[in-house]
Amino acid sequence: MRKNIVAGNWKMNTTVPEGVQLAKDVNDAVAAVNDLKCDVVVGVPFTHLTAVKAVLEGGKVLLSAENCADHDKGAYTGEVSAPMVASTGADYVILGHSERRGYYNETIEMLKTKVDLALAAGLKVIFCCGESLDERKAGTHFEVIKNELVGSLFHLDDKAFANIVIAYEPIWAIGTGETATADQAEEIHAFIRNLVAEKYGAQVADDTTILYGGSCKPSNAAELFAKPDIDGGLIGGASLKAADFMGIVTAF
Ligand code: PEP
Repeated sequence: MRKNIVAGNWKMNTTVPEGVQLAKDVNDAVAAVNDLKCDVVVGVPFTHLTAVKAVLEGGKVLLSAENCADHDKGAYTGEVSAPMVASTGADYVILGHSERRGYYNETIEMLKTKVDLALAAGLKVIFCCGESLDERKAGTHFEVIKNELVGSLFHLDDKAFANIVIAYEPIWAIGTGETATADQAEEIHAFIRNLVAEKYGAQVADDTTILYGGSCKPSNAAELFAKPDIDGGLIGGASLKAADFMGIVTAF
């Protein structure tokens, strides 16, 4: 049975004290929900992981980093490795976000290495894919998404792949206020699930959680999550206010 998940991606926002307060607010609000219908994850900056973990200890909210290095350890000044992330008690790492692909030149090959290192460290991976507006206009979006998934994930065996959550994030919808319609998102989610089925079989595909990300908010989450292949959301802007984030968590 696949899980529904709502995961926040705080990006480069909040100081440590602000982040601790936000995590407390989310943790308390999630604890107060009687019939929680999804796993809840907060994705936080590296600097916040340990302090936020302490806040979440014993509760239901899971913890994610937003990135990890493409090396295990050594002379890579400023980088943070997957084992370092795992040693904070984090459960997940977000990899392949379009901001990292775009601003930091993360390639399909580099992300394949990061995925392997994250899984070897015992982390689960929220792996982002998605097309730009130009790619959608040119009609190459299916091909772009397929290349991202095949190139960075499809070398994994079934056991390893069970630790992957896929997030479809059309770049044109991230932080723009422009959400993909529920039908547009469902079309891509069904395409992704079909790709997974072709590679790993129907059962693995059915068990794979596929999140939508891109200006998801309390007002549109329920319509998106009602679609058969949309299993939750990766939430940027709306994860920075506990009330907005909870409006999405409770949208199932
Ligand atoms: C994201 O960057 O992962 C994201 C979905 O952002 P937003 O919700 O702000 O569009």
